[in-house]
Amino acid sequence: MNEMLVLEGLRKRYNTGLPNEITVLDYASLTVGKGEVVAMVAPSGAGKSTLLHIAGLLDSPDEGQVRIDGVDYAGKNDRARTAARRRDIGFIYQFHHLLPEFTAAENIILPQLANGVPQAAAHARADTLLGHVGVGHRSNHRPAAMSGGEQQRVAFCRALANGPKLLLADEPTGNLDPNTSDRVFEALMSLVRETGLSALIATHNLALAARMDRVVRLEGGKLV
Ligand code: ADP
Repeated sequence: MNEMLVLEGLRKRYNTGLPNEITVLDYASLTVGKGEVVAMVAPSGAGKSTLLHIAGLLDSPDEGQVRIDGVDYAGKNDRARTAARRRDIGFIYQFHHLLPEFTAAENIILPQLANGVPQAAAHARADTLLGHVGVGHRSNHRPAAMSGGEQQRVAFCRALANGPKLLLADEPTGNLDPNTSDRVFEALMSLVRETGLSALIATHNLALAARMDRVVRLEGGKLV
């Protein structure tokens, strides 16, 4: 089986008070292969975040299926979905969401400890990841002492801390200036390739999208 993420016939509507119901996803389908990096391009408001939340088991569709590494989560309870989120999925948002009172390394160590990884191994992994994205020298700094690009590199490391199978990213370089964005994206891609991760990465940036394996557009609630 070469599929990591399968989204099949996803439908999602928001009822903002009849007759204002809006259909955000209208039978959207997508398959992301193992080790494949797919760019999702969509104008703001098209439903990118909704789709990523459903793919990441943070939200449920009204209709349709989400399969991750062969497991269908349609009928699964919250516990199974939470476990899958912790174990299998890494998230990156436009804003880094690092914990401000902890250092860069601690931000990567904590999720590992929560997952039962021993201290020494968690430290070693944090060092490796930070070094890989070029911020090893920042490991003892708190987020506030880092640039936006550095903060986002640390957030990438945190998303990969527990060795997920699937990476979901919502405009991961959207907050950065174009020059920084380019280099930070390069660091992310190198990390993804190194670990053989599958990824679905939403971006407005067509030049970045073109550097991924495949580009899909979210249009009229469908992926094309
Ligand atoms: P994107 O990430 O592409 O900007 P979103 O997925 O955030 O788009 O939102 C898609 C559409 O769904 C927007 O029109 C938004 O206003 C609407 N929407 C999102 N979440 C809700 C909600 N909880 N209730 C009502 N409408 C929502």
